[in-house]
Amino acid sequence: SEVATMMDVSTTQVISACMSLGIMVTMNQRLDAETLSIVADEFGYEVNFVTADIEESIDEVEDDPKDLEGRAPIVTVMGHVDHGKTSLLDYIREENVIAGESGGITQHIGAYGVQLDSGQKIAFLDTPGHEAFTAMRARGAQVTDLAIIVIAADDDVMPQTKEAISHAQAAGVPIVFAINKVDKPTANPDKIKEKLASMNLLVEDWGGKIQSHDISAKTGLGVKELLEKVLLEAEILELKANPNRLASGTVVEAFLDKGRGYVSTVLVQNGTLKIGDYVLAGKNSGKVKAMQDERGNNIKEVGPSTPVSILGLDGAPQAGDKFNVLEDEREAKEIASKRAQLHREQSVRTQRHITLDEIGRRIALGDFKELNIILKGDVDGSVEALTDSFQKLSTDEIHVNIIHKAVGAITESDVLLASASDAIIIGFNVRPAGNARSVADKEEIDIRTYSIIYDAINDLKDAMEGMLSPVM
Ligand code: GDP
Repeated sequence: SEVATMMDVSTTQVISACMSLGIMVTMNQRLDAETLSIVADEFGYEVNFVTADIEESIDEVEDDPKDLEGRAPIVTVMGHVDHGKTSLLDYIREENVIAGESGGITQHIGAYGVQLDSGQKIAFLDTPGHEAFTAMRARGAQVTDLAIIVIAADDDVMPQTKEAISHAQAAGVPIVFAINKVDKPTANPDKIKEKLASMNLLVEDWGGKIQSHDISAKTGLGVKELLEKVLLEAEILELKANPNRLASGTVVEAFLDKGRGYVSTVLVQNGTLKIGDYVLAGKNSGKVKAMQDERGNNIKEVGPSTPVSILGLDGAPQAGDKFNVLEDEREAKEIASKRAQLHREQSVRTQRHITLDEIGRRIALGDFKELNIILKGDVDGSVEALTDSFQKLSTDEIHVNIIHKAVGAITESDVLLASASDAIIIGFNVRPAGNARSVADKEEIDIRTYSIIYDAINDLKDAMEGMLSPVM
């Protein structure tokens, strides 16, 4: 069906073409290079393979279940500004010094690991906020296993709290709430939980399934218990990795250090990374010359769910780039330079996002089942009215999914969420603010703005029926 979409023909036509070649295929089957070329030729297209060998050469071999071992959860802290994300990360960083370890965490490398008294470990991404989280996801990186969403008990469930919740939910990442600042006399944790309940987010105290704990990031009250709940939630996920293979994972941050060269923090997600390994990270490559943990210790090898800063890459990969260890240096170099070339040429789009104009055609082709929408409006009433009307447009063939709705201008963070979740953005009496428009152009995100409810509903209805007249 992907090939059909690219050639603008129906999936059935491609399936019949394959059948006439004696190949029985289903809609979601992958075709090999040769078949692909022959089929495309039938429709008058010539196939130019540009990325296939690059991605396939590092195609991950599936792990045998018996090689898998439990791994620590990787956690991101999100929430509204000033609700205490940084304070919580700082508190955990300062309080959790691994027993027998000399000194605490001395450097910010973008992520750090802690070990609880029980011996269990948790890895934290040290850049709080859902923007960083979703920017990584928009680049195809799924790093976070769990999200702690901090809410100040002397405040309210705020716009960015709601955003963080939507971003975590869109990524399918479980949430643990940290109701913060309970040391303050004005704190009212119950009010927060009640508000969450009214949003259909039932925490445990309210008979729900979502873990939540009252904490003070300032005094440390409840933080230990919060982390225990994080581990409990992580247990359900049965996180596993195979330490006995070449390492792979994600780049968390990278920069050029005057004395040491390029320093990249990576999070090992599978396998074990060792000094001397040949690493391919995004458009960069190199041999690992040295590794350091967040405590400044030199280390020789690191296993899954461990952040480490490495020296030896020939440049600074981007946060969210995947990294892989390859068998030989030449291959790593070759792929890196091919990627760099592709990037320069901008000839391939890594991801093409859905647009309103395209919806009808994609539905007709039969490969499109869910329409993700981010809805922003000027007042609550219009947002709710549009949500209702949009959801009513769902049919048996296609489900309309409002992945995030809020009052306010369309922000860069909305665009990143759209990019990570392949969504379109609909604004009612609001416009893109700040960089949102330019990021949307770059990421090819469809933003539609309306000032008449009826128009918005009709456009979406027409689009779903394949009847939308193109915008001139
Ligand atoms: P962020 O924007 O979410 O990272 O919030 P910060 O961690 O920077 O915290 C914002 C402000 O709230 C700072 O002045 C903190 O000292 C304060 N703060 C954070 N957590 C607590 C807490 O548990 N109790 C009190 N009283 N203040 C806190």
